[in-house]
Amino acid sequence: MEPERASPTKRPTDADYTTEPDDELPAELTTLPWIDVHNHAHTLSWNDRERFALSGCHEMVMMAAAYYWTPYKPVAPEDVRYLWDDALNRLDPIRRSHVFDASLGIGIHTGARVENVEELLDVMPDYLALDAVQAVGEIGITGSQHVSRWELDAQRTVMREQLELAADYDLPAVVHTPPNLDNVDVPYRERGPIPGYELNGDLQRESVIEAADTKRAATELDVELAEEAGLPDEQLVLSHADRDIAPFVLENTDAYVSFTISYPWLLGVTARDVAAVIDEYGPERVMMETDSAGILRSDVFSFRRAIFDLYRLGIEVETIREVVYENPRRVLS
Ligand SMILES: [Zn+2]
Repeated sequence: MEPERASPTKRPTDADYTTEPDDELPAELTTLPWIDVHNHAHTLSWNDRERFALSGCHEMVMMAAAYYWTPYKPVAPEDVRYLWDDALNRLDPIRRSHVFDASLGIGIHTGARVENVEELLDVMPDYLALDAVQAVGEIGITGSQHVSRWELDAQRTVMREQLELAADYDLPAVVHTPPNLDNVDVPYRERGPIPGYELNGDLQRESVIEAADTKRAATELDVELAEEAGLPDEQLVLSHADRDIAPFVLENTDAYVSFTISYPWLLGVTARDVAAVIDEYGPERVMMETDSAGILRSDVFSFRRAIFDLYRLGIEVETIREVVYENPRRVLS
């Protein structure tokens, strides 16, 4: 049947076949400020950092320790100090050059074993006392290390001591939870090194965690250690959250989950997962992060896209604002 013509054009247009959207789009979708609680933007380019500003980033915490650094040698305390000092040196120029606020996370990542780690723990308080440092991170029990295994007992000690420092200095802890890549179709994974990741996966050691679900086991340990260390759950941010770990965290603790949405090609996490968790548990302890770093393919604009997607998935603007701005602001203050 011929549709009733709604357009004066000679040829039929889409207008004849579609209906007008009911609601006016809220202007806030394009202007909502957001805070990235976990990235490594000091390892990106100037243009990449400008993209943060262009897409509405108001504040970020750059983690001065992580996987972007690939040690093919025993890691000494001075190697980690170099990362911390380098990030500190980068901070002021970055703040002067861009229209977002930036601060640092300082921590000992257990993604690669560090020798004589006590030397680092001894000087860490001097770093945490700096105004530039707004978080301890990224830290967190890790199943599989790069190059050299770090046994679980030793990891627990390093993790607990850092969480104690976070409590002493009244800082939030940004905690890496091991990614679960089982259900993700990572491109070319069967052919060795992954093109999107400048890390030799062949050097990844066998996991030190004996559990069917490494992510769950590591996260449970992190939560337990935070309690032992006297760090309130409200200062605990569990990064790289997914739909499987969120229920454990949100049902059993008062900690936050933060979803890494800038490289779904590796983690398989998108705004759809964030929306599903908000629908089920509410927005009060949900956040998003980019975790973007110079070592892997990630997309800074993904954050703003995720805001659009959350809206399209039925999340109200005010709720999105809580997730992307109010929650991280509360944790960082
Ligand atoms: Zn990270």
